[in-house]
Amino acid sequence: MEIQVDGTQKEETKFKSQYFTTEEVEELSSDLMWKLEDVRGECGWPFKINSGYRPGDPNSHGDREAVDIKLWKWSDPVWKENGLKPMSFGQQRQRIHDVARKYGFNRIGLESRHCHLDISKRLPQNVTFIGVSR
Ligand SMILES: [Zn+2]
Repeated sequence: MEIQVDGTQKEETKFKSQYFTTEEVEELSSDLMWKLEDVRGECGWPFKINSGYRPGDPNSHGDREAVDIKLWKWSDPVWKENGLKPMSFGQQRQRIHDVARKYGFNRIGLESRHCHLDISKRLPQNVTFIGVSR
């Protein structure tokens, strides 16, 4: 493992996504993004990360280990554009939850219009929380 000038270890594998833009994943931990990449791949529909670690963003989680995934409406063009059958919010939440568990996420938020996934080890483990998107 390479040691950098500041004494820290260089990350082994730089995250490179086939699904997310550089801007979306910027500043997020590679561990989080590798997991999220698997979840996105298996779910099969485009994920929009609408909150993450973005300095100055009022919706920022304040760390690099959490994301919110926007849930699409039936009427959003994303379904048709990708040749997919529209899914309800409830169907998307269920699917994201099941697939996220499979890939090792154990902190999952099922919110009215988004799903929260994080890999914090500081916060309580094996939790699913329910809420209303702001
Ligand atoms: Zn969140």
